[in-house]
Amino acid sequence: MILIAVLAYTMTLESEKSTMIMPVLGALALGAQRLLPALQQMYGSYSAIKGSESSLKDVVDLLNQPMPIHTNKTSLDCISFKNEIKLNKVEFRYGKNSPWILKNINLSIIKGDRVGFVGFTGSGKSTLLDIIMGLLKPTNGELLSDQKIINNENIRSWQSHIAHVPQNIYLSDGTIEENIAFGVASEKINHNLIKKVAEQAQISESISQWENGYQTIVGERGVRLSGGQRQRIGIARALYKQADVLIFDEATSALDTDTEQSVMKAIDRLESRLTILIIAHRLTTLKNCDKIIKLEKNNKIRILKYKDL
Ligand code: ATP
Ligand code: MG
Repeated sequence: MILIAVLAYTMTLESEKSTMIMPVLGALALGAQRLLPALQQMYGSYSAIKGSESSLKDVVDLLNQPMPIHTNKTSLDCISFKNEIKLNKVEFRYGKNSPWILKNINLSIIKGDRVGFVGFTGSGKSTLLDIIMGLLKPTNGELLSDQKIINNENIRSWQSHIAHVPQNIYLSDGTIEENIAFGVASEKINHNLIKKVAEQAQISESISQWENGYQTIVGERGVRLSGGQRQRIGIARALYKQADVLIFDEATSALDTDTEQSVMKAIDRLESRLTILIIAHRLTTLKNCDKIIKLEKNNKIRILKYKDL
């Protein structure tokens, strides 16, 4: 607008015939109006490119991260778990300057134990289980299975003993069977094993009532299942992995008390050779545990029985 006003003003000063000015200005105004959307689009696209640039950089940086050492190994050290898992003077903090989360933890978990973990929020329960799963490395001290230290060489083998049942089970939009044998190609699924683990996880009854049985589609993120059913599929999935250590990190705390009790019943009926570690906020969840580890304010632990609590 300013440009056209200035132009009109200079043109009136210079030319004698003011009638010539109108068509020129009109043509310019029309042209400008036509150009405006195109210019706006250019500007929009430019800012979109600029805006996405940093996300792209992040992705490229992440893709360029070095792989963990064990991924290049062809032969892995095997680690057995026949007797006990041991934490030997384990201490942990997240960074050099961050506070200690765990101090001087000595703990032995015998094969077949059901162990509960309790403590106030932020006391380090999840951290302790992450150390046991080999997801975090202890800052000091070591994790042992059958007296053998777990290190970078054998950590994959150790992790194959473990299955984790999280609070929110991720379900893909496939069949029940595919969701229990998660990540296994459908032609490689062992149908007998699926049936067996579904029975152990106390979900086979519900599945057999559905029209398509094990081929029922669960819907995106399992929308067609109840919370308790989802949790049981999570348990069945952990069992299908044939792990001997099952870890439940608040797996049942999103469920109502009745459903939780029936899921806990399913857990209690699992084979006694399985070692089960459970973090729970409701104490009643842990009533069948052999021992209960209480994480305390001073970053230490106390080993208790359910009745002591
Ligand atoms: P909740 O009952 O709420 O799940 P929790 O006992 O599982 O708690 P953790 O998640 O183990 O607690 O966290 C223990 C402490 O470690 C917390 O104080 C938390 O702030 C800290 N923490 C957890 N994860 C990290 C991290 N990635 N980096 C730094 N500090 C962390
Ligand atoms: Mg936690």
